[in-house]
Amino acid sequence: ELTYFNGEFVEPGAKVISIDDRGYLFGDSVYEVVRVVKGRCFALSYHQDRLYRSMREMDIPVKMTPDDLTELHEILIEQSEIKEGYIYLQISRGVAPRHHAYDRSKLEPQMLMSIRNLDMDAVNKLGEGVKAIALPDERWDHVDVKTTNLIPNILAQTKAEKKFAYTAMLFRDGVCTEGATSNVFAVKDGILYTHPADNHILKGITRQMILTRVAPSLGITLIEKEFDRAFVDDADELFFTDTIGGVIPITKLDRNPVSGGKPGAITLRLREALEKLMEEGLP
Ligand code: PMP
Repeated sequence: ELTYFNGEFVEPGAKVISIDDRGYLFGDSVYEVVRVVKGRCFALSYHQDRLYRSMREMDIPVKMTPDDLTELHEILIEQSEIKEGYIYLQISRGVAPRHHAYDRSKLEPQMLMSIRNLDMDAVNKLGEGVKAIALPDERWDHVDVKTTNLIPNILAQTKAEKKFAYTAMLFRDGVCTEGATSNVFAVKDGILYTHPADNHILKGITRQMILTRVAPSLGITLIEKEFDRAFVDDADELFFTDTIGGVIPITKLDRNPVSGGKPGAITLRLREALEKLMEEGLP
């Protein structure tokens, strides 16, 4: 584990965040999580595009060039010698006495980055499939922005884990949006379906990889459209996607077995093809 804060490396657990940091007080910050595969960041440019968009949307000034950010990621990997892990990056709006409104001209964004090892046995085990529970999506209308304002996700994830589920599948007005920490896909009659990338889901990088590279490479058609619980219950296969777990087969939803209680064949082909792409690498 190695942590970098505002221009320097700090000891694990170091007390460097001000109690007046707006990230701490209000969750007024944006973040990214990038996978490190074989000592290289996977799809870093995609994560950076999303980070810069989050900052634009939240009106947080950008003080770093993509090249500077890329170099910092590389330094963290080099110094930690981590081969299989992930880098967490968080930029808060800045430090000021607690007041909801902010004055952009008086705030200096604060950047935290840390690299950690991944338990690859746990990641590989996800390929055997997970149980999920359905819960209402109680988040705001801009979840396409990756902010640290995650209380609804935290509550949903905790409810799921209390029921011994891996995570929750969220439904907004009857429509399946995404997971508490992932995107959702369904397979029906050989065709892949996922929620359109609008303001009601996070446009996951893994989702984008499936959409633009993995599914096309396998000749699998993918349709972005809204679907409801009845469609989910009727699906041949279901899976989550995220940066850490890749393609995560769902084998049980609430009390119902999915694809006969084992990972679906198309899901597993996608998981394998994504793993291959990650090993080949992508800037
Ligand atoms: N949706 C939510 C709510 C998430 O927290 C995540 C994980 N960051 C995702 C989707 C998946 O995004 P990605 O593939 O970029 O990790």
